[in-house]
Amino acid sequence: MGVKLRRAGFDDFTILEKAESVGGTWRENTYPGLSCDVPSSYYAYTFDPNAEWTHYFSPGAEIREYFERATRRHGLEPHIRFGEEVTEARFEDGRWLVATNSGRDKLEADVLVSAAGVLHHPRTPQIEGLDDFGGAMFHSARWDHSVALAGKRVGVVGTGSTGVQIVTAIAGVASHLSMFQRTPQWILPIPNPSHGGAFKRLMRRPGFARLNYALNAGIFNLLTTSTIKPGWQRKLIDRACRLNLTRVKDPGLRRKLTPDYVPMCKRLVVSSGFYDAVQRPDVEIVDTAIARIEPGGIRTADGRLHELDVLVLATGFDAHAYLRPINLVGLGGRTLDDAWQGEPRAYKTVCLPGFPNFFMIMGPNSPIGNTSLVPVAETQADYALQWIQKIASGEVARAAPKSKAMERFNTELRDAMPGTVWTTGCDSWYLGQDGVPMLWPWSPGRFKQTLSEPRLDEFEIH
Ligand code: NAP
Repeated sequence: MGVKLRRAGFDDFTILEKAESVGGTWRENTYPGLSCDVPSSYYAYTFDPNAEWTHYFSPGAEIREYFERATRRHGLEPHIRFGEEVTEARFEDGRWLVATNSGRDKLEADVLVSAAGVLHHPRTPQIEGLDDFGGAMFHSARWDHSVALAGKRVGVVGTGSTGVQIVTAIAGVASHLSMFQRTPQWILPIPNPSHGGAFKRLMRRPGFARLNYALNAGIFNLLTTSTIKPGWQRKLIDRACRLNLTRVKDPGLRRKLTPDYVPMCKRLVVSSGFYDAVQRPDVEIVDTAIARIEPGGIRTADGRLHELDVLVLATGFDAHAYLRPINLVGLGGRTLDDAWQGEPRAYKTVCLPGFPNFFMIMGPNSPIGNTSLVPVAETQADYALQWIQKIASGEVARAAPKSKAMERFNTELRDAMPGTVWTTGCDSWYLGQDGVPMLWPWSPGRFKQTLSEPRLDEFEIH
């Protein structure tokens, strides 16, 4: 959003960041094995192609550095106030008044954009005795690097993308590694080649990095987002995951690792090393339910105590806590809680009725499944920019979508959900409280088209 504003000639904007550096999820997550399972070439800004990625799927630290570099390169640092967490934003007298925890005066703004992320608040599981554990314990997104794992008995709770990356990375480091599995996952084994000098030299030639972006975007979206509805792509991924599972030689272990739902119902896990890791003699998949946590380890429902020195909670995030804990107050004192009543909804993922001149990046129902979030953010920022230009030129003083327009959009959205892969019979963080997926059920092309330009007739404009 910052780069788009600068490129459009705006200089009077402030970015409030609660941490001391940029990078979001790539700053918060530092666990061993952290990498992105979207091709790096496609996990980049269209305006800032990168020829230097070291791998097809680059490690987390490299992605964080890319965002830091982009921040410097595009002159955003002077606009950022680090270490300031927004506590409240209130629309009053035609302007947003934004309070932070810094004690500084409230910031006044004509327009407010939230880019506060989705998978942001770590979810700590409700397991009896959690606080009694006698060893080191931390959530995957709060990795404690002061704890050495070498020679330790380590437990990892959770089998999502994070748990799989951690187990693959630390197998062989820990003296014994137990992965506590409530639900097995389908694993797609895409290899991760490194990019040599010749490849990087090619990518540095004019146009090649852009071409590589387009190529990877095309292939990736064809094979992932197209699986939302039944078709050959879904069959192909299904076949590849089932074939991958046959690499697990022990029939008992293979049975444990076999999901009872279709691939892509939950967020697909990409790993070419996980099945090698779990077939090591010092790695164990524990699929008996956790009964409680004791000072010495995890007691499972069969009465066995799994003794542990270190416990890692790879238990995911509260994926529907959009904007929280910011107290967002719109027209007439209406809060976000009043507006949503437990079910986050938005007009076309970006705006809210009753909250004028307010835009969201990664708002409810954004395409956040197996796709690159960077182009999603760009599309939403481009959309917000169009409104900002109207507001700056005086054409519009304030604008918020009509409730009817949002309801119409949400009805269409919900009507498209049955038949999507996310509703084929599994539980996942994709689902809202009522069991309906909080995702984008259509193609990336339709997303771009939907946000290509504002529909003025769908807004209350003053
Ligand atoms: P997640 O997918 O939500 O997985 C959480 C895991 O914890 C699940 O296996 C869940 O089991 C388990 N769990 C939760 N509470 C539990 C409990 N009380 N007892 C036992 N098990 C429990 O979280 P994540 O792995 O952190 O991934 C979140 C998302 O981040 C991913 O889906 C992906 O979108 C993104 N991510 C991406 C990458 C990447 O490479 N791009 C890497 C990491 C994460 P159930 O399945 O039974 O609920």
